[in-house]
Amino acid sequence: MNKLLEIQINKVSSSRLTKTDFNNLAFGQTISDHMFMADYRDGQWYDPRIEPYAPLSLNPANATLHYGQSVFEGLKAHKNDIGEILVFRPDANFKRLNESAVRMCIPEIPEDIFMEGLRRLLEIDREWVPDRAGCSLYIRPFIFATDDYLGIRPSAKYKFMIFTCPVGHYYAKPVAVKVETKYTRAIEGGTGSAKAAGNYAGSLYPALLAQREGYDQLLWTDGKTHQFIEESGTMNVMFIINGKLITAPTSTGTILKGITRDSVLTLAREMEIPVKESFLSVDELENALEDGTLEEAFGTGTAATVAHINRIHIKGKDYVLPDKSVDAFSNKVLKILDAIKYGRMEDEHNWIMKI
Ligand code: PMP
Repeated sequence: MNKLLEIQINKVSSSRLTKTDFNNLAFGQTISDHMFMADYRDGQWYDPRIEPYAPLSLNPANATLHYGQSVFEGLKAHKNDIGEILVFRPDANFKRLNESAVRMCIPEIPEDIFMEGLRRLLEIDREWVPDRAGCSLYIRPFIFATDDYLGIRPSAKYKFMIFTCPVGHYYAKPVAVKVETKYTRAIEGGTGSAKAAGNYAGSLYPALLAQREGYDQLLWTDGKTHQFIEESGTMNVMFIINGKLITAPTSTGTILKGITRDSVLTLAREMEIPVKESFLSVDELENALEDGTLEEAFGTGTAATVAHINRIHIKGKDYVLPDKSVDAFSNKVLKILDAIKYGRMEDEHNWIMKI
């Protein structure tokens, strides 16, 4: 970053803070006072600004509404004991947002607009970062097409925005998952590795069918053979079999490169846990469940950090996993990640941006 980005700031005349019940925060429903935005036209991002959070006006011919040219990110900030705000790995989210943008034919965001926009927004809304144990501020950056034109082509205009939501303590309850062998989330050459709006729209119906059968989430399998485990709804998945941590590789472009996934793998390697980034087949998973060599199964993602899987449905059969033991790897790694995020442990990996 050469010179400091100039951001126009228009603050709210009266904050909604005092009207907000921080003891009752449903995810994504309480939104902080301000939003950051910038526009794109004629090959340039311009007019970075912070404004009171408010609805946008939308032309019915808006390209995003029809063709879904839209990408997003999700990350979190936490408050440490002395009231500083710690943002977890924003540089990784910035990088992934631009990778998603390239895939969806959306112009990339310059680093200073993303980072400085985020920093100023959090400075202004710092009171919205909950200081209670286990609580955090969820941050949603996104870019979408703003052409008002019904022809199918990449939009010429876009909007980049960031808004934030305080979120309550996440009681990571164990999840029941169903191995999906009919519907497909992603296929090689598709958009699976992009955090693109349409990926989520396409996964809602199969997930709803599984929820009706009593499962929290799907375990997606590869789109070609439905024989290999890929990831879950909004989590990457990891298994510990015979002391080895196994998780799907991201090289096929069908899996979201989770930032929690990368953090957990980094810590696992430091803890000298053998890590295997390779596809686990549904049959191998079933065998490990049958012969008791599956020690742990868990999802990793920004929302829960680590979520224990306690039931897996495979081809008509339900397998119940034992409760997570205190000395399970997933428990240990969750504790370390939490300690880093809340500033109770030294940030050896440079994962924290302090505000
Ligand atoms: N997979 C998918 C499909 C997701 O939406 C998410 C949430 N971003 C993840 C995995 C986990 O990614 P992260 O650890 O970066 O939150």
